[in-house]
Amino acid sequence: MRVLLSLGGNLGDREDNLRKALRALRALEGVALGRVSHTYETEPLGDTAQPVFLNLAAEIETDLGPLELLDAVKGIEKRLGREATYRWGPRVIDIDLILCGSEVIDGERLTVPHPEFRKRAFVLAPLAEIAPDAIDPVTGRTVAELAACVEDKGKVVRSGYITP
Ligand code: AMP
Repeated sequence: MRVLLSLGGNLGDREDNLRKALRALRALEGVALGRVSHTYETEPLGDTAQPVFLNLAAEIETDLGPLELLDAVKGIEKRLGREATYRWGPRVIDIDLILCGSEVIDGERLTVPHPEFRKRAFVLAPLAEIAPDAIDPVTGRTVAELAACVEDKGKVVRSGYITP
C-alpha cells in the first residue's frame, strides 16, 4: 500500500530531526521510502508565539497495516524525543498519516485520510510536490486540486531539501 506522510517539527535542529525521522522510517521492516518533498518553512497554527515549523511530505510503500504503521510512527516520534505538549504546541517531530492508499478509516486511534489535511497548506504544499495525482477517497479530489484551493493563509515557503 502506498502511504503519504506529513512530517514536521519546530524544536531543536529541525533538519536533523527530519533526517533522523526519514532514516528511521526507511529502516522499518516492511517499509520502503519513496519520494521525499523539499522542506517548507511554515507558520505555526494556534499559538503563533512558538518557533516556525519545518515540514515535508514523504511517500512510503508498505506491507504494514495502517494501525501497525501508526504504532511504528509513534515509536519513532518517541525515540526522537517528542515530549507530549499541548495541541498545536511546539514539538521535535510530528508524523501524520495523511493518505493510506484508498482506505477510509474512522477509528478510535486513527482517522485516514487525516481529518485536517484538506485545510492545511503546510501539509498540502509539500504533498502536492510529490503526489499531485493522489486521490482523496473521501472527496474524490486530487491532492493538486485540494492544494490549489486551500483556504489556510499561513505562510508556507519552500526552503531546502533533506537527503535522508
Ligand atoms: P499528534 O498530536 O498529531 O501526534 O496526534 C495524536 C494522536 O492522533 C495519535 O496518537 C493518533 O492516535 C491520533 N491520530 C488519528 N488519526 C491520525 C493520523 N491520520 N495520523 C497520525 N495520528 C493520528
